[in-house]
Amino acid sequence: MHVDHSEVDRRTLLRAGLGAATVAVVGSELAFPAAAQAAPGTDLDWIISCDEWDARPPKDPLSVSAIPTNKIIVHHMAFPNVTDYSREQAVKLAHDCQDLHMDGNGWSDTGQHFTVSRGGYVLEGRRGSLERLEAGDRQMISAHCPGENGRAIGIENEGTYVTETPPQALTDSLVKLCVAICRQYGLHAHDIFGHWDFRTTECPGAAFYREFPALRRRVYAALGTKLGDVPARRWPDLWRFVNSPSVRVVQHLLTFRGYAVTVSGTFDAATVAAVQDWQARNGIPVDVDATLTTPTWETLAPELDQHAAARRSPRCRRFSPPRGTRSPSPGRTTTPPGRRCRTCRRCTACRATASSARARGARSSAERSARRSSTAEFAAAVRGTPHRRRALAAARRRASTASSPGADQRRVAVGPV
Ligand SMILES: [Zn+2]
Repeated sequence: MHVDHSEVDRRTLLRAGLGAATVAVVGSELAFPAAAQAAPGTDLDWIISCDEWDARPPKDPLSVSAIPTNKIIVHHMAFPNVTDYSREQAVKLAHDCQDLHMDGNGWSDTGQHFTVSRGGYVLEGRRGSLERLEAGDRQMISAHCPGENGRAIGIENEGTYVTETPPQALTDSLVKLCVAICRQYGLHAHDIFGHWDFRTTECPGAAFYREFPALRRRVYAALGTKLGDVPARRWPDLWRFVNSPSVRVVQHLLTFRGYAVTVSGTFDAATVAAVQDWQARNGIPVDVDATLTTPTWETLAPELDQHAAARRSPRCRRFSPPRGTRSPSPGRTTTPPGRRCRTCRRCTACRATASSARARGARSSAERSARRSSTAEFAAAVRGTPHRRRALAAARRRASTASSPGADQRRVAVGPV
């Protein structure tokens, strides 16, 4: 389900060169001829069209986007995880969703382009989406993810997947649908995102999102993508209208680069100014919407080598990286293979051995305490207290037993000196 009700995608207008003054015309048709690259005879008959599931007509005229489609955004519907896997349930689902979006949210039509049921049925959502998919160009402007509605195909999946994963039939159909969309729009498996990559929401659910790498691998395989053609990263092209946890990452990186921005997750004016300043300083085209283009991400994110670990905690004093392993970026160190910080327990490298680090910490703490007390006794002895010789002998004994096995227990028995 979506809490955002803003259906108008202002970026779509701006990118189309229409500008703010023509916002009023949103809702009218932007006519585009059928795409030249439309795949003739493409078999998409397995998608149940709006006519086939008897959808209501849209309340308002729908628009075709003027900008290219560059991603797929996957959602869960936050509907019950039903065990009715029939076609009838899939059709009922499409009707329920359309009613909710039109009557509850006040939208013109179903928000997403396509719907997948738990039984694996795929249905057209917003009217016209199937026709645009067959054409392979210029999607319908939708209402599934504000800011991305003109350039992202939205797929809603029946169910709630915060803790549960979708049934196999749903996943298989989702793969099939993603493959068809990628083929028709010239996209790749790495162009598949989750809703929360662009908005602050629980959608598509943590359990589902965890399966996205497997989903992408299946789409890659079906598309016949060579591994060598897969980019190392596909950065989310965030811009000033989005509001998601990914924005916090941007703000952390800007802070790391010295900008005074608040890490809030909201793409505020300070973040816009910082991104644009960074772009200007690094010879990257400055985007009017402060879009995090690939060069912007690549320059903002510090380079790490293959053995890079997390940023060293300020509490970490005992571990100093060997000469030559300190990276050029201030405050960032690299941990050589096999090395573990023994003190801070905050470094990523330490987490795997946190319990053994705690045990080591307890032991070394007892040793330090023993040494401190014996040193105090020794100093007192040197200063010439009445029992100088006895105190000196006791200090030496404690110092020697402190480093032997079982010293912890003996210290407890002796008590503080
Ligand atoms: Zn969603």
